[in-house]
Amino acid sequence: MQRVAVRCCVAGGGPAGVMTGLLLARAGIDVVVLEKHADFFRDFRGDTIHPSTLELMQELGSFEDLLKLPHEEAHRLAFQFGTLKGVVADFDRAKLRIPYIAFMPQWDFLDFLARRAARYPTFSFKMSAEVTGLIEERGRVAGVTATTPRGPLEVRADLVIAADGRHSLVREKSGLTVEELGAPMDVLWFGLPRRDTDPDETMGRFGPGSIFIAIDRRDYWQCGYVIAKGSFDAIQQRGLAAFQQGVAAMFPEVSDRVGQLDNWDKIKLLTVQVNRLKRWFRPGLLCIGDAAHAMSPVGGVGINLAVQDAVAAANILAGPLASGANVDPLLRKVQERRLFPTRVIQAGQKAVHNRVLTPLVLRRAVLDKVPLALRLFERFPILRRIPARLVGLGVRREHIRSPDAGLRR
Ligand SMILES: Cc1cc2nc3c(=O)[nH]c(=O)nc-3n(C[C@H](O)[C@H](O)[C@H](O)COP(=O)(O)OP(=O)(O)OC[C@H]3O[C@@H](n4cnc5c(N)ncnc54)[C@H](O)[C@@H]3O)c2cc1C
Repeated sequence: MQRVAVRCCVAGGGPAGVMTGLLLARAGIDVVVLEKHADFFRDFRGDTIHPSTLELMQELGSFEDLLKLPHEEAHRLAFQFGTLKGVVADFDRAKLRIPYIAFMPQWDFLDFLARRAARYPTFSFKMSAEVTGLIEERGRVAGVTATTPRGPLEVRADLVIAADGRHSLVREKSGLTVEELGAPMDVLWFGLPRRDTDPDETMGRFGPGSIFIAIDRRDYWQCGYVIAKGSFDAIQQRGLAAFQQGVAAMFPEVSDRVGQLDNWDKIKLLTVQVNRLKRWFRPGLLCIGDAAHAMSPVGGVGINLAVQDAVAAANILAGPLASGANVDPLLRKVQERRLFPTRVIQAGQKAVHNRVLTPLVLRRAVLDKVPLALRLFERFPILRRIPARLVGLGVRREHIRSPDAGLRR
């Protein structure tokens, strides 16, 4: 049994967890981040870095270095509904300091943040360390247990931060109550080769019974095929040939390559959840990011929200943690600060689920009847600045106010 004692233990090395680790280490706090995977590369990671997150990188003095990594700038988000092609969000019109979303493979972004954090002597990152349980003492969370390739690990911490995503084990073990808001869809996730003659924009298309997203990753297309929740078994029973035809119908530009989807192992099912905890904390434990509020992919804003949670948590807790104070009475403040933006964004996602996605995936939508909002964006392009600001900046933007203890303790 390996034993470690730290001021703060973060479960999960996704956007929320790595950003929390970076900010706490920057404030001079002993922090360990535990990530169950061996690296950042995995089946699914949203690839969007939003203007507000890019602004945070400016505040950290890391913006220019981040943009040296390969990325695409999306100044507009395009859609196709039936035969209508249009723009739903226009960042250039939205008066933003950084008027685009940077599409960057998330493993590059997380690796970048982790390398920045590793410059601080109080930061520790353990890969292949899967949290398996909570250590509780006198009704208080006092640490976690984990498995690692070197055997079991016990981390004692004054504060555990659960950032282990929408299937959070920590929140399950904590007994905190989850409020399910429901989602009508799941996503099938797969790659297809990209050719130089293909279109060069990330796009979303609405077709009968589905929505198709194609992310341009230079040498391949990362595809997301939205299906009705629970319908994957039926799709598999119809067979791969029918699936390939469906993909070709949604994305004719790659119809010559859909034959490469010749095995269901190449197609991953991502289950979508929308929920949130009634209370995000217990003595010794705080949940943030998807562990506190699982987000739908709608608007591609979950990463942004997770990063903003991390910044808010560090703003509220880093100073007291650094001075050795008991932070239990402050955990409520993190929830109070972040509940409003979470509610607003989840309400927006639910509205899109109910009005656009549910009728489409249940094949009740008529594709020549374009939703009013999309028609308005075409008629009055100025309106495209509203979703651009919502998606780009979110609601209640956070700025970095946590202390910077410098690179030496
Ligand atoms: C299909 C789909 C598409 C999406 N697309 C986008 C998008 O394009 N843009 C966007 O902004 N949002 C998108 N989202 C939402 C987004 O993925 C999440 O909101 C965001 O990733 C939340 O970040 P997080 O750090 O809280 O959790 P996660 O990103 O889920 O990270 C959690 C981390 O914890 C690790 N972990 C889990 N359990 C343990 C354990 N027991 N021990 C140790 N480590 C553990 C995981 O391996 C993972 O690295 C999408 C969601 C879905 C379902």
